[in-house]
Amino acid sequence: MFAIDYYQQAESVAQAVALLAAEPGARLVAGGTDVLIRLREGRGDYARLVDINGLEELRGIGLADDGTLRIGALSTFRQVMASDDVRRLVPVVAEAVGTAGGPQLRNVATVGGNICNGAVSADSVGALLVHDAQLEIQGPEGRRRTPLQGFHTGPGRVALARDEVLVALHIRPRDYRGFGAAYYKYAMREAMDIATIGCTAAVRLEGEAIGELRLVFTVAAPTPVRCAHAEAAAAGRPLTAETLDAVAAAVAADVQPRTSWRARQDFRLHIIRTLAARVTRRAAERAGGKF
Ligand SMILES: Cc1cc2nc3c(=O)[nH]c(=O)nc-3n(C[C@H](O)[C@H](O)[C@H](O)COP(=O)(O)OP(=O)(O)OC[C@H]3O[C@@H](n4cnc5c(N)ncnc54)[C@H](O)[C@@H]3O)c2cc1C
Repeated sequence: MFAIDYYQQAESVAQAVALLAAEPGARLVAGGTDVLIRLREGRGDYARLVDINGLEELRGIGLADDGTLRIGALSTFRQVMASDDVRRLVPVVAEAVGTAGGPQLRNVATVGGNICNGAVSADSVGALLVHDAQLEIQGPEGRRRTPLQGFHTGPGRVALARDEVLVALHIRPRDYRGFGAAYYKYAMREAMDIATIGCTAAVRLEGEAIGELRLVFTVAAPTPVRCAHAEAAAAGRPLTAETLDAVAAAVAADVQPRTSWRARQDFRLHIIRTLAARVTRRAAERAGGKF
C-alpha cells in the first residue's frame, strides 16, 4: 500500500497546471517508476499526486514541416526506441534509452520523467544534450521554450517551477543533420544498472577533419556536463590517435567526478578519459570518418 494523501487525474495539460498551482506540495506522476519508489520509501513529499499519464497531448513522436523532431514528454523509452524518426535522425537517443533498466521498465518509464527527476545518471540526457534538445514547458502563463542545456541545476534539481509541465522535446535539423553519435554507459553490471559514468559524443566531419565535437558526460559532475575543453581540443583536428589523446587529456578540465560507493574519484577520471577518446572515435566513425 502507498500512503497517498491526494490524487487527481488531469484531463488536460492546462488542468494539470491548475491542479499543481492549487494544491501545495502536489507533484506530477507520469510513468511512476521514480515516484512510486519514493512513495514506497515513505517519502511524504511524494504523497500528493497529479496524474498526467492519460494525456494524449503529451504523447507522440513526429516531424514538423521544417524537419524539427518532436518527442512528446510522455513517450516511453520503448516508444522512443521503436520510432522510425528517432532511429533515422537521432539514433543515439534510441541507443541511450535502450540501456535503461529492463523491458518492463522501458515499457513504462517516460523520457519526460527521466529529464524532470533531475537524476545525474539519467540515460536519455546525454543523447538529448548532444543534439541540443529544446524543452517545451507549460505553466500558468502559457508555454515557453528553453534549452535542455542548463536545465539541470544540481543533483535531483531542474529549472522547472512546481506548477509547470514538460510538454515535449524538440530537436532542430541543424542539431542532427550531418552528425554521427554514440553513447556508452559504464555500469557495474551489463544490464539493469544505473550508470557509473555515461558518455555521449556527436561528431560532424569537415572533409578529413573533425568539424565539430559535442561531448557530454553524466555522473561526472553534480549535473550532466557538456565538455567545452575537450570539444575545443577536437575542433578542426584530423582523425588520428593524437586528436583522441588530446580530447582525453582536455576532458579533465570539464568534469568533477566524486567518490561514491559505486566508484572512487580517480577510477572515475580514468574511465572518463578512456571513454572520451573511445566514444568520440565511435561517433566520428558513424559520421563516416576513418582513423
Ligand atoms: C528498476 C528501475 C531501474 C531503473 N533504471 C534506470 C536506468 O537504467 N536509467 C535511467 O536513466 N533511469 C532508470 N530508472 C529511473 C526511472 O525509470 C527513469 O528516471 C524514468 O524515465 C522516469 O520516468 P517516469 O515517467 O516513470 O517518471 P515519474 O516517476 O512519473 O516522475 C519522475 C519525476 O519527474 C516528474 N515528471 C514526470 N513527468 C513530468 C513532466 N511531463 N513534466 C514535469 N515533471 C514531470 C515527476 O513529478 C517526478 O518528480 C530506473 C527505475 C527503476 C525503478
